[in-house]
Amino acid sequence: MITHNLGYPRIGNQRELKKGLEQFWAGKISEEELRTIGSKIRQQNWQTQVDAGLNLVPSNDFSFYDHVLDTSLMLGAIPERYQVLVDNQHNSELDVYFAMARGLQTEQADIQAMEMTKWFDTNYHYIVPEFTKNQDFKRFSNKAIQNFEEAKSLGIITKPVLVGPVTFLLLGKEKEAGFERIDLLDKILPIYIEILQELAAKGAIWVQLDEPCLTLDLTENEIIAFQKAYQTIRESVPALKILLATYFECSGDNINLATSLPVNCLHIDLVRCPAQLGDILTLKHFVDSDKSLSLGVVDGRNIWKTDYKKALSFIQTANEQLATDRLLIAPSCSLLHAPCDLDLEKNETVLTPEIKSWFAFAKQKLTEVVALGKIADSKYDLNISLAFAENQRVIEHRKTSVLIHKPFVKQRVAEITPTDSVRQNPFPIRQKLQLKALQLPLFPTTTIGSFPQTDEVRKLRADLKKGVISQIEYDNFIEKEIEKSIIWQEKIGLDVLVHGEFERNDMVEYFGEQLSGYVFTQNGWVQSYGSRCVKPPIIYGDVERTTPMTVRWSKFAQSKTNKLMKGMLTGPITILQWSFVRDDQPRRTTAFQIALAIRDEVLDLENAGIKVIQIDEPAIREGLPLRKADWENYLQWATEAFRLSASKVKDVTQIHTHMCYSEFNDIIKHIADMDADVITIETSRSQMELLEAFVNFQYPNEIGPGVYDIHSPRVPEVNEMVELLEKALVNIPARNLWVNPDCGLKTRKWAETEKALQNMILATQELRIMALAE
Ligand code: GLN
Ligand code: ZN
Repeated sequence: MITHNLGYPRIGNQRELKKGLEQFWAGKISEEELRTIGSKIRQQNWQTQVDAGLNLVPSNDFSFYDHVLDTSLMLGAIPERYQVLVDNQHNSELDVYFAMARGLQTEQADIQAMEMTKWFDTNYHYIVPEFTKNQDFKRFSNKAIQNFEEAKSLGIITKPVLVGPVTFLLLGKEKEAGFERIDLLDKILPIYIEILQELAAKGAIWVQLDEPCLTLDLTENEIIAFQKAYQTIRESVPALKILLATYFECSGDNINLATSLPVNCLHIDLVRCPAQLGDILTLKHFVDSDKSLSLGVVDGRNIWKTDYKKALSFIQTANEQLATDRLLIAPSCSLLHAPCDLDLEKNETVLTPEIKSWFAFAKQKLTEVVALGKIADSKYDLNISLAFAENQRVIEHRKTSVLIHKPFVKQRVAEITPTDSVRQNPFPIRQKLQLKALQLPLFPTTTIGSFPQTDEVRKLRADLKKGVISQIEYDNFIEKEIEKSIIWQEKIGLDVLVHGEFERNDMVEYFGEQLSGYVFTQNGWVQSYGSRCVKPPIIYGDVERTTPMTVRWSKFAQSKTNKLMKGMLTGPITILQWSFVRDDQPRRTTAFQIALAIRDEVLDLENAGIKVIQIDEPAIREGLPLRKADWENYLQWATEAFRLSASKVKDVTQIHTHMCYSEFNDIIKHIADMDADVITIETSRSQMELLEAFVNFQYPNEIGPGVYDIHSPRVPEVNEMVELLEKALVNIPARNLWVNPDCGLKTRKWAETEKALQNMILATQELRIMALAE
């Protein structure tokens, strides 16, 4: 059975790509040196995959920034504003490329970057192609061909990977009205064909075209586009073997389309959608054809060891109907979303051998694919395979390990009742009680939680980790920072203060480190976008809060002021969303476990005298399933998890939540269902446009639309903020309106933060005077 891979992490085992990019952008290394780094990573990746024993390894999966941007460049889909850079002889292809990705600010030019957005439901972000009605495409970058030749010169005939033409168009955005981007298909197909023909001429046997959009809800036009694209490609490159890759979802109602496109092989994601195998095997037109099926049985998006028994049952089921030479084995999707290599985790106190034995990172997943292929080739003779026995030992161990399974936690989740996720009284009653208890002025002012994380703070945290300073020294330092920020907040006149989150490295990691059931890697980096990598914590077991996590700091902060001090927590969905999660129980169950842990913390904060508690949920929208039909179910349990964490408090305790990076229109009803007393949201970049959703829906609770953009160092004028607030006041009752920035201030500098917040207070004062006059 042919074993293959869809894509390998491109950041390098030691994040060489990140480091190289940053040095190049800082002007410290030349383009040639950067290119050498790229080619080293590619060579290493190919060698790793060949050494693992795969039959077919990908090329062109490497990218200096993003594979969708690569595709834009291949097709010459370069927005007009970069044309001056293209025309300038001194600029290399890479100069244009990075300008598109990051924008360009020099003395001569100020060109905006292209937009970035999430790659399906992953945490990877791609650069959104821009389209205009009469756009011309022209072959521009030959990277796909160059990379193929590079591998060939090393003796490896790779399978080049391209983003398929339909998915490429669908991932983009129309920049003007009067056309649909899918109509541009005819213009890009000739370039695809040219490239494919050239690859075939240079010796490529297989090519992988990624069309994950085949798993989404499609319009009639889009279905026709798929048929047309693949018909045309088939006719133009009859000898080249085309592997059409779908992943991240079921083909669902597109199953007939996906299985009837004229390609040589269809790849399906059996981790995300196991049921589609059975469905496909009942399709006579597919079974009777000579097409191959690539079985994605190794999870490309998570860190768990594959259960060989389960994977083999898919392979065997397929093999009963399809001859061995029609089957391929692969990871479910590109390994871009997995950390590179588990062998790099050497610190056994951080990651114990027992827990480590349950994991497989990208490199280990290759071994799994190959092992499964071998077992299949042996006609499923499990007795001869040591690998199988060892795999099953680990899988069984994980099912019963006391490290993972905590009866007490499971019981708590089982005992959740509907009343656990409702406050004692509805919002109007709570609002009256809170008004009296909290004595807040009209248009209360607050911030979102974090204050600038200076180099000094970061250095001390690093020193603590290294053992250079003691816990006591560190804690003293944090206390001083908190005190300083309180004096400062009182001075500028904020109403609800925060402690500043100086003690936190990251809003999820900080909690993960204190919850049981969590583990951290030292090198488990995954690309988020361009040079940015994240190291998601791993939830391996039942989640439990064993001791209070934030009470110490909140209590300390409250003791230093007579004003209200807001407690700061990260919500269960955001914690879930930004971690690697368990694959042995539904996400919902894990979310509820985390929710109960946060609830314990909420109640401890309340007991410690904290009257306002914020539970951040910036990632709630990110968790939306790819298919609309599945949204309702997710939103139900996601909002329930939030309410579960928030609802046990007294009516007078005010619960805040905060959201950002989101459009809210399509989920506003569910945001209201979260029933937070106050929500603060990001709105300033869109000039309050985002607020529209809340207004149209008549959002019932209190709301703080961010009045200035914290992503920019720019200090907003008082007038600007007054105007934004007046805009908000047209539709939001004065009593419900809060004044705050867009998001946390940890990435800002103190100087600009001080000025911006001072102006924000001045704007609020003006507003209060105007309100009095009315
Ligand atoms: N409380 C967090 C902070 O201020 C919220 C961060 C976020 O929304 N991403 O940093
Ligand atoms: Zn935010």
